[in-house]
Amino acid sequence: MKLPNYVSGQWSEGAGAGEALIDPVTGEELASISSQGVNLDAALAFARTFGGPALRQLSYAQRAEILAKISDVLAANRDEYFRLSLLNLGANQADASFDVDGAIYTMKYYAKVGRALAEGKMLKEGALVPLSKNNAFVGQHFLMPAKGAAVFINAFNFPAWGLCEKAAPALLSGVPVVVKPASPTAWVTHRMVEDIVKAGILPQGAISIVCGSARDLLGHVREEDIVSFTGSADTAARIRSHANVLRRSVRVNIEADSINSAILGPDGAPGTDLFDLLVKEVVREMTLKAGQKCTTIRRVLVPRQQLKAFGDAVTIRLSSMKVGNPRNPEVKVGPVVNKAQQSSCLEGLAKLKEESEVLFGGDASFQPIDADAQKSAFVQPALLSCKNGLDAKYVHDVEVFGPVATLVAYDRLQDLIAITRRGLGSLVASVFSNDTNFTRDTVLGIGDLHGRVLVVDSTVGNQHTGHGNVVPSCLHGGPGRAGGGEELAGLRALFLYHRRFVVQGPASCIAAFSESCGDTTLLYS
Ligand code: NAP
Repeated sequence: MKLPNYVSGQWSEGAGAGEALIDPVTGEELASISSQGVNLDAALAFARTFGGPALRQLSYAQRAEILAKISDVLAANRDEYFRLSLLNLGANQADASFDVDGAIYTMKYYAKVGRALAEGKMLKEGALVPLSKNNAFVGQHFLMPAKGAAVFINAFNFPAWGLCEKAAPALLSGVPVVVKPASPTAWVTHRMVEDIVKAGILPQGAISIVCGSARDLLGHVREEDIVSFTGSADTAARIRSHANVLRRSVRVNIEADSINSAILGPDGAPGTDLFDLLVKEVVREMTLKAGQKCTTIRRVLVPRQQLKAFGDAVTIRLSSMKVGNPRNPEVKVGPVVNKAQQSSCLEGLAKLKEESEVLFGGDASFQPIDADAQKSAFVQPALLSCKNGLDAKYVHDVEVFGPVATLVAYDRLQDLIAITRRGLGSLVASVFSNDTNFTRDTVLGIGDLHGRVLVVDSTVGNQHTGHGNVVPSCLHGGPGRAGGGEELAGLRALFLYHRRFVVQGPASCIAAFSESCGDTTLLYS
């Protein structure tokens, strides 16, 4: 079976044999995809010509209603997405839920916050700017929906959420979307788009999907388009520096990889609730989706005197978790997505081992439960320990995109800050401490190089949202290596799909313009 592309309002199969979608547990071929022969220039033109204007005929509130209908359709087909996630990603219930339920929740969230925008065609930003003595001549900033297409190039690990977290704010803004999911796991995204198209909720051209290689897609983007990319830092650099993207100053949002940190404060001694909370969080982060989350904890910074106790506590938990075929109900940790990722994890692990001691796992020849080690793509969870974080190289640089974390010892606050900053820009760091001075100084030391800092103390306990969990009401993205992008954060996400401009003119004229705007004060709430 070859999954067709949906472009220019039609389903069409790509040419050639295509690329195979593989079950990472059995190694069987499930389906194939191909974008060969698809006219990507025409696909973008169709989205801009038909999808965009039809969406922008509607008000924000009407588009929010569309998002609500999309979330209903997705919720009605949830079981199918779980089935495909099991087949194509080897995802168990918890892994699939993180992606699929996260997707549906995000769509619902934007439907809800979008309804709060008053009826309007564009947004007014901020107050009138006085430009003359008698206030007859004034300025007003506006945000206008971009009249191009939003092109999404997504990563393999979130086929459902990756679509929805980008599509919800784009569609709410009135911008049509063209999604290119990562090839290895395109099926879930494909099925979601198919269900949305079948439901007839969106106008023609408002959603398109290209499965397979991006080919010449970026060669056809224009000044009014937006490219939103999620994936590795290497591909991000290629996208950012694409000649057509550069020449036309196409707006690009990049969500790339990240060496995230979790920090245990000096007060987190063994036996304290903070110690236990962080142990639990590290194990959860390492094992959920087999560690294939961009936000997963890669480095755990621990006071040197607690290094051994912390390593022992994580090891005890990891050793009781069964790794193997997610169809077996006793199994807790599934495979990585394919053989290529398995090899990449093992290569990365070999580098980490050069400067760190292995406390648990990481055996390349381990036997997964109910799966053939030759055909499947499992990585045994691995915990490492690095005693000299200041001099280490790989631990701050190599993202092993699997169930692997490294404990890094620190002695003083200034070392802790220096070590954390070696990630050179991360999506998230979390700080587990009851010492407010320590937490404040740490946040002040690392905040500029992080998109999100999660702080947990005893009053919060296990009521926090999770180190690796991205909530649509808060910012997702990070500086530097993490790509420098910004997504979500409630209605702030709409900025990406709007253009800011200012009108300087007669107050009466601006008042008339303003009638076609909603109440934008919400953007800053
Ligand atoms: P990837 O290899 O960089 O691929 C990402 C996407 O880019 C895929 O759709 C890929 O298509 C496409 N692509 C590759 N080369 C391209 C080119 N020259 N022009 C246009 N598109 C191109 O990343 P991945 O392996 O799928 O994802 C894992 C990485 O994503 C990890 O490093 C992870 O940290 C990161 N990630 C980050 C976030 C975040 O929010 N910051 C979220 C999830 C994942 P093909 O699949 O067809 O090659």
